[in-house]
Formats: sequence, structure tokens, C-alpha cells
Amino acid sequence: MSASMRIVNGQVYDPKNNIDGEVKEICVEDGKIVDSVSDEATIIDAKGMVIMAGGVDIHCHIAGPKVNLARKLTPEARRHDPHPSTPFTRSGSGGTTPSTFAAGYRYATLGYTTAMEAAVSPIGARHVLEEFEDTPIIDKGFYVLLGNNIFLHNLIREKRIEEFDQAVAWWVNATKAYTVKLVNPGGDEPWKGKRNSNVSNIDEKSDDDTLSPRQIIEAFIKTVNKQGYPHPPHIHCNNLGHSGNYITTLETMKTAGDLRAHIAHIQFHSYGGEVGKNPISKAAEIAEYVNNHPNITCDVGQVMFGDSTIMTADAPLAYVLKGHSKGKWVNADTECESGCGILPFAYQEHIYVHTLQWAIGLELFLLSEDPWRIVLSTDHPNGGSFMAYPKLIKLLMDEKFRREEMKRVNQKALLNCSLPELKREYTLSEIAIITRAGPARALGLETKGHLGVGADADITIYDLMDDKELMFSTPRYVIKSGNTMIANHEFKTDSKGKVYHITPDYDNKIEESLKPFFEDYYSIEFSNYPVDDRYLHQHEIIKTKTS
Ligand SMILES: [Zn+2]
Repeated sequence: MSASMRIVNGQVYDPKNNIDGEVKEICVEDGKIVDSVSDEATIIDAKGMVIMAGGVDIHCHIAGPKVNLARKLTPEARRHDPHPSTPFTRSGSGGTTPSTFAAGYRYATLGYTTAMEAAVSPIGARHVLEEFEDTPIIDKGFYVLLGNNIFLHNLIREKRIEEFDQAVAWWVNATKAYTVKLVNPGGDEPWKGKRNSNVSNIDEKSDDDTLSPRQIIEAFIKTVNKQGYPHPPHIHCNNLGHSGNYITTLETMKTAGDLRAHIAHIQFHSYGGEVGKNPISKAAEIAEYVNNHPNITCDVGQVMFGDSTIMTADAPLAYVLKGHSKGKWVNADTECESGCGILPFAYQEHIYVHTLQWAIGLELFLLSEDPWRIVLSTDHPNGGSFMAYPKLIKLLMDEKFRREEMKRVNQKALLNCSLPELKREYTLSEIAIITRAGPARALGLETKGHLGVGADADITIYDLMDDKELMFSTPRYVIKSGNTMIANHEFKTDSKGKVYHITPDYDNKIEESLKPFFEDYYSIEFSNYPVDDRYLHQHEIIKTKTS
């Protein structure tokens, strides 16, 4: 149990509870925010400081087979960026794909206390949970990749919707996932298979028969909404990165109708122009659709200049990009349920496309009319490391800084977007929304992202500074579940976070169809496939409509 604590004199930014910079006491007991505490409680004087809930990353890649593959592919990144131990925390290694330990500590040093791993093939779930146990401090969960799953494709194709609903719920339970993830739905499978090519729009039939990405997307959106998962399907649209792909993105969002859907790293899906030629920005069209459709949430996937690692279940994309990498690249198969591609990458200011990507991300933030539905992300490490979040916050909050940065980038790209005309500056309250309150709401995590009574006592206290990059990269205090992890910029203790997952109901009868499929197609026995509870360690089940 954590001690009780009273944080006084700080300016509180807690948008969920309509607190916008007022000086207010925050009381903590037993790991939760409470109304009041006894006089014996430890006091933290936060005079001149800003208090927010712990940050929540809705989309990152920090654990599991693909991250491990990327780590193995870039040993130089680890040698050049060791993460030192302290009297309380152990060492790790960094780069854009840090070790489990470094990932947890580095999130904490930014004031982030929750992060969701955004793409896990079902067969990799056990590995992810093992790595989660080694990822300190932060709470986490993951989204399971089901959009290129042959068994599920067959059920959709044969219109066996009731069985499809059961099978999706079975897979979510079997892997301990938080929601379903679709990546290039219906595109990886034909690319890996006989046809040997990706789909180019969501109505293209992906096999020799009748299945299109749109049918797959529709089936998942319907089942997840019907079963009432706390977070809707997390969708990486088809055609990521290709000029002209904004049409695919709009069509994907339209497929949802008025049902909830989350569009991942939407920046990578907001390009106009002709396929094979340089893109132009379609951020305005995408932002307008999102602004007008409250059922849609998205995260941006901002590109930040410097090193990144592209890691994706969109295997055809990694294959297309391989010539643009720094010489290393790998594609890997994941049986009959997903694909995988990895390549170390660097975004450079002088390159037209890279600058345009950077500008489109910023446009999307600045054109968004509802900060609750657009989440700050770099699609770590695809658009850049999560360690770049403070600089991204500065770009959003400081128009003068943005203008200075614009002088250093490819000027031709700036002519093909509206960034130079956008004067908006985010407020501290809006930053609190896009980095904690909004993602917590989109995830259905009711005890995260705010500082109201009953919330988890995940609290970050920043010195108020003019330089917002400095401010957000060096919180003075980071409190997790009521324990002071960091005080005066130094770790004071270590801790383990918990795993969030869901347990939607399903009928065991579906296993009668699954078993023979496993015997025919999988390298693993059906009985060995579901992840058992001992892999969960500390965990919490978030309710669905059917559990
Ligand atoms: Zn991603």
C-alpha cells in the first residue's frame, strides 16, 4: 500500500473534471485520488508547478516478437544509447527500440504511466506478456492482430456471422488482449500467398473469390461494437504511406457508419496525389471528416526528424520501403494470422516526402476541432521515438518555434500543405487532453487520465517553464499508483505496472471448428495456443457488454 499524500499549491490541469489551471489540493491514499487525507500525510509543495494525470500512450510498439526482431537488427543503437542503472532501477539499452527495462523507465521519465502495445499477432501474445512483466512502472495492454487471420476470413466470406463473433471473442480471450487490431486488413494475406500482391483499395477482392477489405473492416467494427469492448477496433487502414491513400482512409471511416472506430497513425493515411508520385497533403479533408464524426477517434502518428524504426504487420509496406532504408530490412511471416516487416529508418528535413509527413501530422493536430478525439502519438518507433513527445508538444504549443523549425525543412513540401498558415497554439489544458484525458477516454479506462476522486493516483508534476520541450521532458515528480517514483528528477523506487485486458463472453462450441483448423494449418497444438493466466501477473479486467 502506498502512503497518503497531499499535493498543495500546484496548478491543476484536469480537463475531464473541468479544472483548467486552478490551484487545487490533490489528495492520495492507497493508490487512489481521494477527497481528503489526514494531517500526517506526506506533503508535496507544487508551487510554480503544473499537475496533470500520468500520460497515456494509446499507440506504441514496445514489446513482443517484432520489437525483439528490430532490437536484434540494430545492435549499434543499443551500444550508442545505454540506459544507466540507478540505486533503484536497473540498466537497459536504448535507441528507437529500447529494451523492456529502458522502455518502462523512459516512459516514466516523461511522466507517462500507461502505454498500449498496438500490434501483437495472437501467436506472439505469450511473448508480449513476458516482456510486459519486465517493463517497469507503466501499466499496459495490447491489441491483437486479427485482420489477416485466415480462419476469420473464411467465416466472413461464408457469412457465418454468429460464429465469427464467437471466434473473435475466443481469440481475444485466448491472447489476453485489450481490443482487436486490423492492419492492412485483407491485404497481407494475398501478398504472402499465391497472388503475391497487395490490395490497392478497400473494395478490391483480396482472394480469388469474394472477400474485400471493406467486408473485413465492417465485420470487425460490428462485432466489437456489439460486444461492447471498452476500446473500438484499432484500425491501420489499407494503403499506408501511398500517395492518394486519403480516399481509402475516408472510405474506411465511412464503413464504420456511426459505430465507434479508432484510426491509428492517421497522418500516414492522409496523402493526396497519384500513386508512385510525390504526395500532397489531404490533412484538411481527413480532419474535416473526423471533426464531423464523433464516433471516430484517432491518433496522429507524428513524424519527427531523426532516427526511427519502421515495424509493422503491414508486411507489403515494409517490402516496398526496403530500398529506402539504411541497408537493413527484414520481412517475417506469422503463420496464417498476420505479417511482419522491420526496417531501420531516418526522417530527414531536406527530403520532400519526410517534410510533408511532418507537416501533415502537425496540420491534423492544428485543424482538429475536438482534442478529445485526436491523440498525441508518433506511432513509436515508426514516426520517431516516444522520447520525442516533449518536442512535439512544443511544436503544438509554440507557433514561433514552429516557424523557426519550418525554415529548416524542405520548402517545396510546405507549398503542398497548409501548415505555414496555421497560427493555432495548443493550451496546457489541450495538451492534457491529447496526452492523457482523451486517450484514457478512447480506451474506456475510467480510472486513468484524470485526477477526480476514485482515479488511479498516477500523477505528473512539471515545473512551469516557457520552453515546453524542456518542461515536458523533465517532470519534477512522477507518482504511480500513489508511489513517488521520481522526485526532483531522480528515481526513488521501482515498481511493476499491471496489464489491462478484456474477457468477452463466447460459446465454447467455436472450439470444435477451431481445433481441426489448427491441426491442418498451425505449427502449434491447439491446446498449447491459448495463453494461461499465470502469464498475466498483476492485471485488471475491463468490462465489456458481454463479460
Ligand atoms: Zn503502429
